Amino acid sequence: MNALARRIARMIEMDGPIDIGTYMLLALHDREMGFYATRESIGAGGAFITAPEISQVFGELIGLWCAECWRQQGCPARPLLVDLGPGRGTLVTDVLRATRTAPDFLQSLEVVLVETSARLASVQRERLADAPVPMRWVQRWSDVEHRGRPVFIIANEFFDALPIRQFVMTERGWCERMVVAGADGLAFGLSPQASPVHDDGIARAGAVYETCPMAMSLAQEIGAAMATDGGAALLIDYGYAGRQYRDTLQAVRDHNRTDVLAGPGEADLSAHVDFAAIAEAVRGAGARAYGPVAQGDFLRALGIELRGEQLARANPDCAAEIAGGIARLVKSEAMGTLFKVLAITPRDAPSPPGFAIC
Ligand code: SAH
Repeated sequence: MNALARRIARMIEMDGPIDIGTYMLLALHDREMGFYATRESIGAGGAFITAPEISQVFGELIGLWCAECWRQQGCPARPLLVDLGPGRGTLVTDVLRATRTAPDFLQSLEVVLVETSARLASVQRERLADAPVPMRWVQRWSDVEHRGRPVFIIANEFFDALPIRQFVMTERGWCERMVVAGADGLAFGLSPQASPVHDDGIARAGAVYETCPMAMSLAQEIGAAMATDGGAALLIDYGYAGRQYRDTLQAVRDHNRTDVLAGPGEADLSAHVDFAAIAEAVRGAGARAYGPVAQGDFLRALGIELRGEQLARANPDCAAEIAGGIARLVKSEAMGTLFKVLAITPRDAPSPPGFAIC
């Protein structure tokens, strides 16, 4: 057991088993020993690699997407660009570079980075020191101060890091999956009493139902912001769009899957995103949700291949690398199909680029 596992075990001995979400919070965000607080998490040398770290074209197309949504809505004054979970700051850097071709958008823009990790926030500050627009950092969405302003939100691999809760179908009904302290360390257990779960009646014994309360409240708040003040949001994540009863919680360390409970703080923990539930929360808040569509289809619709060719012509020495990065983002056997994109706009706004058929 590592030091954080020992601390969690002591906590459980004193206070009882903890739910999966509490375990995720401690393992990811503990200020001294949590994964995001201590580890080189993202990039080739980190635990996992994200799309903007693979190709600059990813962020560039998203920047142009934001500028186009802003234009579609009549170029509203004082737009805010919010990046939820900005990682190494690469995505925002690429977004801002691309929006230089939309100077009217860029000139009036302010950027807010929502980041819990002090370590990553300092990486981002350094990376964005020469940013052409005013930047602010906050730790939570609720601190963004977006009211009265149209807000353009990017969330790439953010929702999958939010704490989930899991319920397992047993003879007693849906029992919550908990983390308990066993003789050999942390282990999974089930709560003795059943919980009410709105299932569709087809789940068999052993089925796992996942919920993400924070994703639901955030989706609701983003939907409400769009409905009141305009803007657009793009959520990109590994996820699913129909009801499924599967355990999707996973731990990744040095680009490989590892045991979820083995070394809290040493591995990234994530779960697949339930896009249908997010879309429902968005609609309930009076906004419109589009998709999810496959990342490959979305990027192709935005012209990733053409942009790749332009970039390769300008940098012939890197042509193979550029083509390889783009292939990784769009190909089905890589990130093209499993990663999905959901857009949120006000109800009366035109369809955003890449979602014409939704
Ligand atoms: N979007 C980035 C990084 C994704 S990794 C990219 O595409 O490269 C997840 C990011 O979300 C990290 O920056 C992590 O520190 C941050 N994060 C995770 N949970 C968070 C939370 N609850 N609030 C704010 N930031 C969070």
